Amino acid sequence: AKQEGGGVFSFYAPEMNQRAMETMEIESALRLALERGEFTLYYQPKVDLASGRISGCEALIRWLHPRRGVVAPADFIPLAEETGLIVPIGTWVLKEACRQVRAWQAEGVPIANVAVNLSARQFRTGDLPGLVREVLGETGLDPHLLELEMTESMVMADHAQVVAVMEELTAIGVRLSLDDFGTGYSSFAHLSHFPINHLKIDRSFIKQIVTDPNSATIATSIIAMAHRMRLKAIAEGVETEAQLAYLRKQGCDEIQGYLLSRPLPASEYAALVRRDAGF
Ligand code: C2E
Ligand code: CA
Ligand code: CA
Ligand code: CA
Repeated sequence: AKQEGGGVFSFYAPEMNQRAMETMEIESALRLALERGEFTLYYQPKVDLASGRISGCEALIRWLHPRRGVVAPADFIPLAEETGLIVPIGTWVLKEACRQVRAWQAEGVPIANVAVNLSARQFRTGDLPGLVREVLGETGLDPHLLELEMTESMVMADHAQVVAVMEELTAIGVRLSLDDFGTGYSSFAHLSHFPINHLKIDRSFIKQIVTDPNSATIATSIIAMAHRMRLKAIAEGVETEAQLAYLRKQGCDEIQGYLLSRPLPASEYAALVRRDAGF
């Protein structure tokens, strides 16, 4: 975090810059943040291009730091992963997202699904399918309304074990999507082994889709490949009308990005969904 400059932990004294010390400090800060309830989820809509309607959202964690304000995940998720705290934080995220969707349902918000990001540690530590079952049971959420996003590099790391966990998750009824797609090394052959529903094309390609022919080719190929495998293609990080027009022409199924909306606090997201549904 330090090298990035101006990060959330830059207020730590320079004499503490031994890495171990810093990690310990941040670890206890994160642990306290979890205890004090300083994390919150923002929700970013995904839009279905065929209907033009909101098809669901992605839950994205934020740290509401008492002094620093809203802290982005890039400033603390890597350390949470390094220290293993991502496991309890990830459990909190899962519970909170499911609780929020149930609360919206109770308020009559016409909510579609919610996607939650998983980290590799959550796959390796403990019983992820058991946790998902428990949280769905506790909250009473319909499993089909929950989608779990995992990155391509995560599922490639320990192929056989990951596929077994993914199959268990699919059996529960939750949807799975492969995030940041195109940045890793999956082959066509590998991909066909994963019980997934969505491919999310990484923002790095979308960013250059109208300026760089190679990025455009990659995005187009991912969309075509997704469709051949009966998966839906989602483009993330769509910021301009030109990018949207290109993706629409290529038959991309869903898009997500600042063009439509930034990630929003729960109440603002609910208001957006109500407007989208026409009431
Ligand atoms: P991600 O899963 O790829 O999430 C998409 C990121 O792209 C989000 O950043 C989102 O705000 C941002 N984004 C969406 N549309 C646009 C756009 O049009 N332009 C630009 N420039 N950015 C856009 P965010 O919320 O800062 O999250 C960053 C990463 O942190 C996520 O990337 C994910 O890897 C991780 N993360 C966030 N929440 C969680 C969580 O609850 N658990 C875990 N394990 N990781 C999380
Ligand atoms: Ca994601
Ligand atoms: Ca992503
Ligand atoms: Ca990403």
